[in-house]
Amino acid sequence: MKKEFAVIGLGRFGGSICRALSEEGMEVLAIDIDEDKVNEFANIASHAVVADTTDEAVLKSLGIRNFDHVIVAIGDNIQASILTTLMLKELGVKHITVKAQNDYHEKVLSKIGADYIVHPERDMGKRIAHHIISNNVLDYLELSDEHSIVEIAANGNIAGHSIMELDIRAKYGINIVAIKRNKEIIVSPQANEVIQSGDILIVIGADTDINRFEKKAL
Ligand code: ATP
Ligand code: ATP
Ligand code: CA
Repeated sequence: MKKEFAVIGLGRFGGSICRALSEEGMEVLAIDIDEDKVNEFANIASHAVVADTTDEAVLKSLGIRNFDHVIVAIGDNIQASILTTLMLKELGVKHITVKAQNDYHEKVLSKIGADYIVHPERDMGKRIAHHIISNNVLDYLELSDEHSIVEIAANGNIAGHSIMELDIRAKYGINIVAIKRNKEIIVSPQANEVIQSGDILIVIGADTDINRFEKKAL
């Protein structure tokens, strides 16, 4: 059975989620309080409705509890975002993703039981900052305050050497979980795998260790 999604708030963030889900062939109900926004999505989403989601009766009449996943992408109106999330939770929606506007908003959302809280501006900002500080870091995923998974471009200093020769785990305490080579991906590479120039290493470890590896080995 096809999964059914509902996106509440069709600003840049919610709108982009709505488009991407629709392009993937998903059933999407697009909801906004603003009629112009809804009209914009009438031909993109499976259904598009004008509704104020802070009104419980409205949420019930939309049958919102039957959706597999509801995304709350109301931005500036934090009160509306919180109220909507609270009612979705009370109505028994199984998966709720909410965009947080700031840290306080995030705290409240996690208290009322939002399943996934995203902070796109903050996270994208961090990601881009990492990218511009280090020439070799292509992308990163924060696992905790101190641990990450990072994509690092291999350069001439390590190309031509095997993982064993470089002794990466012993010297830096980090693990190479995969190597991207052209269109290929080598998952859990063996110690005798020779790094080639142009390889992208996906490494996991403590941020301090990953930094050390970037500075010393590359
Ligand atoms: P983005 O950064 O993603 O563009 P934003 O931070 O600018 O979004 P807003 O424009 O404040 O966020 O909100 C996103 C959408 O949520 C708007 O189109 C707005 O009309 C809609 N919205 C706000 N309140 C409600 C509500 N109570 N019910 C339904 N939709 C709402
Ligand atoms: P975000 O989505 O990243 O939270 P936003 O969409 O709300 O940002 P704006 O409010 O338009 O974006 O602008 C972000 C910041 O840029 C604000 O702090 C604002 O004061 C500042 N800003 C806007 N215009 C100018 C300008 N011409 N010169 C300097 N700062 C500006
Ligand atoms: Ca914004």
